[in-house]
Amino acid sequence: MQWTEQAEAAVKKVPFFVRKKVRARVEKETGDAGKNRVTLADVKATQARYLNIMSSEIKGYQVDACFGQSGCPNRAVAGEALVENIERVMADADLLRFLKSRVQGDLKFHHEFRISIADCPNACSQPQIKDVGILGVASPVFTKIACAACGACRDACKEEAVLLSETGEADAIDFRRCVHCGSCMAACPTGTLTAGKTGYRVMIGGKLGRHPRLAKELPGIHDAQAVVRMIGDFLSFYKSRSTRGQRFAQLLTDADIKAFSEKWAR
Ligand code: SF4
Ligand code: SF4
Ligand code: SF4
Repeated sequence: MQWTEQAEAAVKKVPFFVRKKVRARVEKETGDAGKNRVTLADVKATQARYLNIMSSEIKGYQVDACFGQSGCPNRAVAGEALVENIERVMADADLLRFLKSRVQGDLKFHHEFRISIADCPNACSQPQIKDVGILGVASPVFTKIACAACGACRDACKEEAVLLSETGEADAIDFRRCVHCGSCMAACPTGTLTAGKTGYRVMIGGKLGRHPRLAKELPGIHDAQAVVRMIGDFLSFYKSRSTRGQRFAQLLTDADIKAFSEKWAR
């Protein structure tokens, strides 16, 4: 496929990491139109089509989940129902219409309200950089079943939070270190250690972009119903404050995070 000088110059302005892809797309679309020479008009037409597709894919929010549902052995909780319920709350909030009423000009993906759910504290879906991040957790407790002093729980704990006695029995959990990942109880062959409180840690206010910051965690472990109610609360706050389509994370002050912490304390 031949390219005119102007078309070459236009495609060189595309960021280098997507240039090859864009070039291939322009060539395909030009070829599909029965031409063998790419002009500036062909490059612009492809760009316009791409921008149209992009804006039609914007729905006002993004809900991401980790790959836990596909059978990850590290899951602390099974969060399928939670993901579905969050999707429902987000769809009911009609954020696309809300954003269209607030944002001047075209909507972009970066305007969307982002939520990420990870089924364990490994946090593969990056909840720390989302408006709302949710981590599945299981808190260890001791049962009355005798400990076999096998040391499996200590070996499974990456945080060195399982404390053994001099004779090798599991003695206590150091909750200043424990991240409630559930690995120790999964490794315990006797049932001496088991899951106590299970649920979700919730963090808010994470974002990337020009002023990146990590989400801050609200205290406590929350059940799935409470998480859904919290998200409803966050959405009300967001809609009342986002006058120009600013992200939830942009709007939150430390005082707001403190107020949410107190309101949802568990
Ligand atoms: S966050 Fe945990 S459960 Fe989800 S995919 Fe990663 S390791 Fe597996
Ligand atoms: S839940 Fe995880 S972090 Fe806590 S003690 Fe068990 S293995 Fe360690
Ligand atoms: S609590 Fe369970 S895994 Fe830990 S030492 Fe005792 S029997 Fe082994």
